[in-house]
Amino acid sequence: MTREQAQARIAELRRLVEYHNYRYYVLDQPEISDEAYDALFRELQQLEAQFPDLVTPDSPTQRVGAPPLSAFPEHSHREVMLSLDNAFSSEELLAFDQRVKRFLNLSQETDIEYTCELKIDGLAVSLTYEDGVLTIGATRGDGVRGEDVTPNIRTVRQIPLRLHSGDSLFDTPPRIVEVRGEVYLSYQEFERINHERAQSGEPLFANPRNAAAGSLRQLDSRITARRRLRFWAYGVGYCEGAEFATQWETLQQLKAWGFPVNPHTRLVPNIEGALAFCREWGYRRAELDYATDGVVIKVNRVDDQRRLGATTRAPRWAIAYKYPAEQATTTVREVRWQVGRTGVLTPVAIMEPVSVGGVTVSRATLHNIDYIREKDIRVGDRVVIQRAGEVIPEVVSVLTEARDGDEVPIEPPTQCPVCGARVERAEDEAALRCINLACPAQIVERIRHFTSRNAMNIEGLGDKWVQRLFELGYIRDPADLYSMHQHRDALVQLERSGEKLVSNLLSAIEKSKRNSLERLIFALGIRHVGEHAARLLAEYFGSLDALMNAREEQMMQIPGIGPETAREVVEFFARPENRAVIEKLRQAGVRMEAERKERKATPFAGMTFVFTGELQSYTREQAEALVRELGGRATSSVSKATTFVVAGPGAGSKLQKARELGVPILDEAAFLEMVRKASVG
Ligand code: NAD
Repeated sequence: MTREQAQARIAELRRLVEYHNYRYYVLDQPEISDEAYDALFRELQQLEAQFPDLVTPDSPTQRVGAPPLSAFPEHSHREVMLSLDNAFSSEELLAFDQRVKRFLNLSQETDIEYTCELKIDGLAVSLTYEDGVLTIGATRGDGVRGEDVTPNIRTVRQIPLRLHSGDSLFDTPPRIVEVRGEVYLSYQEFERINHERAQSGEPLFANPRNAAAGSLRQLDSRITARRRLRFWAYGVGYCEGAEFATQWETLQQLKAWGFPVNPHTRLVPNIEGALAFCREWGYRRAELDYATDGVVIKVNRVDDQRRLGATTRAPRWAIAYKYPAEQATTTVREVRWQVGRTGVLTPVAIMEPVSVGGVTVSRATLHNIDYIREKDIRVGDRVVIQRAGEVIPEVVSVLTEARDGDEVPIEPPTQCPVCGARVERAEDEAALRCINLACPAQIVERIRHFTSRNAMNIEGLGDKWVQRLFELGYIRDPADLYSMHQHRDALVQLERSGEKLVSNLLSAIEKSKRNSLERLIFALGIRHVGEHAARLLAEYFGSLDALMNAREEQMMQIPGIGPETAREVVEFFARPENRAVIEKLRQAGVRMEAERKERKATPFAGMTFVFTGELQSYTREQAEALVRELGGRATSSVSKATTFVVAGPGAGSKLQKARELGVPILDEAAFLEMVRKASVG
């Protein structure tokens, strides 16, 4: 490449990188994958290395992140927050180790001790504590100045508002300390937020990192508070009044101060140990319920770190080993419309099989017809697909430049692909629905739902078996499962079956008759009745008969049950075919009453609790579960019907509301005392 060509390409790359930085850091709406971004960035770095005189101080390779948004007050970090250099292979990791040794004037045979920390895909924040008290929480911004998002930081439950003094190395907290760490979201919470956004028609977040950034940079901290942001601490910036000898010691101190530190962090004796850690977590990261995009490897000794120093962009004593992004390109061969248990038709792309993050994928969800139109996905298109953790693979974009004109637009079906019945689109929904309740696909899905783990939990009765038994005419509805024993001999003769398998299956079916009422209610598959609503209904009504005869207004008395759910429940039980199934279940001896035992241990019966602020001994979910075990109710908003508000440090508007309404307020100690008395009494 000539100098002129390089110059032009460098200018183009800078423009692109700046543009994507802006979308990623400022708008939280990236347009391209991290992998694609990293490729642009690398190309720029390489060209600049080749033509060093073309490097200018304003090049994105010389800078960190993007300047803060104007909406928040600016905060100047006492010590700059850098980015990290990346390694994409074990060779690059070994080269990093060699560089470190050369810089420290050590022979290549010496072992350097490293800490290995999972690289959490969230956003970096700096928390300033003065005399042990949290005074400022800020985003990284451009590394020098970030956004002061303190009110939002205070809503993150895992961040202590005051440093604990427990097993600390120091008698008093440091005068000033900047604690550095990552704010992130679990996959589950990420999906919950996106689901909520989809329902209210807002654009979806591309990944948990963007959702976390979007949530932390909310101008209304009540919205932030509703999103369950989490935190891992991994370092200390400026620190006055305390010193650390190693990164490992720093992490232990952070724990003692009350911060969550990722439990998978490991101290290794040399770079080979670090490589082994990267390999191990390359597959184990699938176990985690949050996103990691790599491993951060840090020179353990702080005096070595000081000697190594930093470039303008990143420290020389640390490196991020990045896992290949779980994205790939492939071709859409066909689109199938799958029928769910409520008749909703979901488009699924059948693609040329391709390996994504080590797993072969040949199907991806296209969500609904609006999604297909928005992305303009056609049969025959080259598409980018993505797999994130446990989430079903999805098509993220179309490579329109690869089209040759033979691609076929996708039309929504007018007939159910399984039963041929008419397809309808409800006015306020993106979903298409098959209107035939007797549609075989719907029946099979309803039975699958009935037997599934969180419903009746019939072990050994997987999806394939349900399909087979349905096709052979043994089951037409969930209640037929309970007469399967009559077909025992025939079942044993089936292909890939046998005496043992059948008897296990029949005893699992038998066992499920004793399940709790809430499982049964959930298993019926009433629209809008998820596990949570099923539990509320079971607790309130105590029997299926009482629920079947309930009126809408009665159900709406229950905090947590809204008008839509109430209407669906009434409609469900009004249908003769549903009543017939329930009669069959009753004849078979399926339990339809709440367990006696459940009803006895109810010292909190009739009481409603609302938790606000931080709890020390339990997470909020655990405390709520405790209340339910004792027969009480836990809700999230304060009203006149609330019996007690349990308030901890950081409590806000709910506490105020409780005061206004005169609802009694307990602190954590008083609540625990009540629980103790109730449990022994
Ligand atoms: P980075 O993500 O490569 O590494 C630095 C960051 O790692 C820190 O700021 C911190 O947030 C995080 N981190 C997680 N665990 C850590 C630990 N244990 N110790 C230290 N840090 C830890 O760098 P970056 O500057 O935050 O972001 C650059 C990356 O962002 C790019 O490589 C790219 O993947 C992505 N990006 C994507 C786009 C896009 O358009 N898709 C645009 C800009 C940036």
